[in-house]
Amino acid sequence: MAFFGGRRRRQQRDLVPLAALIGKELKSEKMAKPNVRYGCAAQSKKGEDFYLMKTDCQRLPGKPSSTFSVFGIFDGHNGKAAAIYSKEHLLSHVMAAVPRDLGREEWLQALPRALVSGFVKTDKEFQKRGETSGTTATFVIIDGWTITVASVGDSRCILDAQGREVTLLTVDHRLEENVEERDRVTASGGEVGRLSIVGGAEIGPLRCWPGGLCLSRSIGDMDVGEFIVPVPHVKQVKLSSAGGRLIIASDGVWDALPSAVTAKCCCGLPAELAVRQVVKEALRSRGLKDDTTCIVVDIIPLDHYAHPPPLPPPTPKRLSKLRSFLSGKLSLDSANKLSSDGIVEELFEEGSAMLAERLGNGSSSSEQTHGLFTCAICQMNLAPSEGISVHAGSIFSTSGKPWQGPFLCVGCRDKKDAMEGKRPSGVKVVY
Ligand SMILES: [Zn+2]
Repeated sequence: MAFFGGRRRRQQRDLVPLAALIGKELKSEKMAKPNVRYGCAAQSKKGEDFYLMKTDCQRLPGKPSSTFSVFGIFDGHNGKAAAIYSKEHLLSHVMAAVPRDLGREEWLQALPRALVSGFVKTDKEFQKRGETSGTTATFVIIDGWTITVASVGDSRCILDAQGREVTLLTVDHRLEENVEERDRVTASGGEVGRLSIVGGAEIGPLRCWPGGLCLSRSIGDMDVGEFIVPVPHVKQVKLSSAGGRLIIASDGVWDALPSAVTAKCCCGLPAELAVRQVVKEALRSRGLKDDTTCIVVDIIPLDHYAHPPPLPPPTPKRLSKLRSFLSGKLSLDSANKLSSDGIVEELFEEGSAMLAERLGNGSSSSEQTHGLFTCAICQMNLAPSEGISVHAGSIFSTSGKPWQGPFLCVGCRDKKDAMEGKRPSGVKVVY
């Protein structure tokens, strides 16, 4: 389900005293650009965790006012090649899928779709290299007060909005806990079960077969079934001007510490020290059983220190409003009102694995800019007769809207059908 929060317009009044006007401008300037403070800490066991921290990306090249930040964690398995490839290429693949020359708000609204394209393209390009291995990917884009998180796998990202309530911004794509994903994998032709040992006893977590992976989504993994998809869960939220803290980490942290404990154990410390505290706490609790990598990012008002003064405890009324919102019982209008109270505003959330739902209707992004048909995933140019609508039915189905964009090239369409279980993996389809 996707929904967009109502956007407020600043009211203009006549005859505002100059000092008030300057004050207002300064205030809006503060609102426009928070301070981003961050730190990273890691303890390696297998050498398959990688991370990305980049705070100098620009939406409009050469314009410092369009700067945004990117943070990512890639927890590799069966080797490190997929994690390294994703760290090096995911950002550029996502950015290639965003239409050019957009204003900031439009750019933010285009991100969820571009993230889907970028993840799928990264997976496709990595698989072309013929290397085994796979990786989780948790990829965070911070532009002003707006945070967009896309993830596959189980490298969780949590948000601690000023010590009030810890929110999960990702979904764990683990077969053991995620019933929806279990159903999807089974419906797409995969089998879910535990390892059997001699004597028939079953051990360990639930896995997908063929392949035996515990995750249901990842980048890479060409030697497992194609129902292990790279389509990310995407969530976009906007912080209030009080700011908040993100904690992104590989499962080395989350298998050791619950989200709320993780947030609490580093509360009040600046990001660089907080992140070390989290890793230390994880190791103390479970020992070094797995690669353990963590990034802490504080998004704070410009005039704030990394140690904001403690806020008064939330009133029971506000807490119950927040709970209603989180459980979906509160309307969007009421939820938006909460943002002025220092509560996070939710702008977008979608986790479907179906590309037709994720890429939306209408022309693909690049068509609008260049007047050309391009594949919505790999951005390859297409002749008008070549594009296959993302809505067109597969050879087994005639449903959908085959005349409507966005369009995919034959290769990406082939991949889409395989991911959705519409053709047996590895069978060449002739168009
Ligand atoms: Zn393509």
